[in-house]
Amino acid sequence: MAFTLAPLPYDFNALEPHIDARTMEIHHGKHHQAYVTNLNNAIAGTDAENMSIEDICKNISKFPAPVRNNGRVHCNHTFFWSIMAPNAGGVPKGVLGDAINAAFGSFDEFKTKFNAAGVGRFGSGWAWLIKNSAGKLEICSTPNQDNPLMDIAEVKGTPLLGCDVWEHAYYLNYQNRRPDYLAAWWNVVNWDAVAKSF
Ligand code: MN
Repeated sequence: MAFTLAPLPYDFNALEPHIDARTMEIHHGKHHQAYVTNLNNAIAGTDAENMSIEDICKNISKFPAPVRNNGRVHCNHTFFWSIMAPNAGGVPKGVLGDAINAAFGSFDEFKTKFNAAGVGRFGSGWAWLIKNSAGKLEICSTPNQDNPLMDIAEVKGTPLLGCDVWEHAYYLNYQNRRPDYLAAWWNVVNWDAVAKSF
């Protein structure tokens, strides 16, 4: 069964002024669509056709390069759209908020560390908040389109939050100012969605 690009759960302009409509339109409709098309071409007639995108990531080392590359990208972007929302941001409450405070000292310290992971990622990549196999929260970053689900990830775990720090995610509005993009991005984090997966 082929993978499909789900429509965004909000309008292209819904995350403005933090992420502009044109960036969302190109990022979702052009970048992500191309990855889905390439992934479907790569898995046609193989066992991967019957696997979930998460299971492909968990076994990523077993696949040829076109599946490895496009599979992880599809997984990352599908996740990315789901953890953003208009009229979002703020401070996570309840058990998730407590867990973040316990793991990082405070929400502000968590944000500082997450921002450092995103800004410090040389070139293109992602910053993540994950739950590791011990059930503990951790911040990590991955190069290119790698993710913590992958069997060959340096730091493994289940992503709870992820930020795309490729230039295509912010260049139209922020150019070289990745720290400004990250600062604005917190205003669109959908903590309800993060709490559900936690
Ligand atoms: Mn991207």
